[in-house]
Amino acid sequence: MKPMPEKSSILLIYTGGTIGMKEDPADQALKPFDFSQILEEVPELQKFAFKIDSFTFDPLIDSSDVEPGLWQALAKLIRRKYDDYDGFVILHGTDTMAYSASVLSFMLRGLGKPVIFTGSQLPIGSPRTDGKENLVSSIEIASAKDADGSATVPEVAIFFNSRLFRGNRATKADSSSFGAFTSPNCPPLAEAGINIRYNKAAIRQYDGSPLEVQTELDTRVTILKIHPGITRETTGYFLRDPGSRAVIMETYGSGNAISKPWFTDIVSEACGKGKIILNVTQCQAGEVDMNIYATGKTLKAAGVISGRDITTEAALGKLFCLMGKFPDNKTVKELLESNLRGEISE
Ligand code: ASP
Repeated sequence: MKPMPEKSSILLIYTGGTIGMKEDPADQALKPFDFSQILEEVPELQKFAFKIDSFTFDPLIDSSDVEPGLWQALAKLIRRKYDDYDGFVILHGTDTMAYSASVLSFMLRGLGKPVIFTGSQLPIGSPRTDGKENLVSSIEIASAKDADGSATVPEVAIFFNSRLFRGNRATKADSSSFGAFTSPNCPPLAEAGINIRYNKAAIRQYDGSPLEVQTELDTRVTILKIHPGITRETTGYFLRDPGSRAVIMETYGSGNAISKPWFTDIVSEACGKGKIILNVTQCQAGEVDMNIYATGKTLKAAGVISGRDITTEAALGKLFCLMGKFPDNKTVKELLESNLRGEISE
């Protein structure tokens, strides 16, 4: 292992998103612009007494276009540069930021350094931008060390609107306000006021194990949202699809779905054939508990796995990673019920 540089050093990774967008006069649509212009907009970055290098993805994208290939490229980049930097800040669009932060948290095992996602609701060149504060505080958090020299936040996290959230607990909940993200089932890891106050009790401790980066992902997952009026045909289409290995079923309240025999028959048939069905609540907060109502008990009896208080974004990332690593669904099902990276409450 290389000796640690005395001063902190940060790698700023730019993938795209509103933070770096500008209006194209041709069609008035926001499109990504060059990274050097971001640096020009934030002269504050030069006031940090440490090294900030940058890496720009090509092409820059609106995060609605994110694909697993970007996550694999990010994970490989972090692996390649891990010993050279004390922390990583990833500039990313807000639309899929919670998906990317979630999956990265599972791809990076034994993480001992901060990987902080941030972005903004208004482009960094706009007078009222939230991008500067988000970027500057993210860099400060990515470089923060405890008295013993270890990283204060050895986690994949999202910094937005003065709050730091665990990446696999966050969700985009507001498309218009500066507070785009919430994390209803996990308190913020830090809050930025005059000082940045770290919530040490909520931050996961680094266990000292070496970084292991998983880049194999199995993306054969679909998401079925239960709603009044859903038909037998739609349910069957999702649960009988031979192209999917797992289905995230977004259910009502504490994990309830339709109690009609046609529905439970399709669910039982799919579970019987080995399909992984993960029950995630449509509610923003709270958890799945299939022991409360008859409608939940039927799902449990059929073999549906409880996602407990996991977000849909984290469920997707967890499934992609577990399925990418384990060819047998039994192991995947067992690990879905375990807390791997702080994504579910103990
Ligand atoms: N559509 C943009 C994106 O996700 C929105 C944003 O960055 O806030 O890239």
